[in-house]
Amino acid sequence: MQGERPRPVLDVWNAPFWAAAREHRFSVQRCESCGQLRFPPGPSCPGCLAEAGAWVDLSGTGIVQSWVVFHQVYFPGLAEAIPYNVVQLRLDEGLRFLSNLVGVVNGEIRVGMPVSVVFEDIDADFTLPRFRPA
Ligand code: ZN
Repeated sequence: MQGERPRPVLDVWNAPFWAAAREHRFSVQRCESCGQLRFPPGPSCPGCLAEAGAWVDLSGTGIVQSWVVFHQVYFPGLAEAIPYNVVQLRLDEGLRFLSNLVGVVNGEIRVGMPVSVVFEDIDADFTLPRFRPA
């Protein structure tokens, strides 16, 4: 199988996240009314429906809450990455986030494992935040 690696589809809401990642900052929206962190970014707060949101840099640290390992090729561009993990993280600021864990054997991933963000510069335009054991 062959194909291009999937890339994010940029829009007005998520562009600041990807621009911050390009600068190796892990930044998310925070509601200016109730303070809830939002990811994915969007036009209103899922907690209080307020529209105002500001971008804030997070620590980029947290723990693994759950994970899966993909053995099936759903995206031809990821065929060479099989088997790859997808982890559900709880970041220190309380936000739940989905990512990949790098620098670890899939069989060694554990619930509660502390992690920190790493920024993988894919090319001149795209940086992908991922996580590694801390
Ligand atoms: Zn809110």
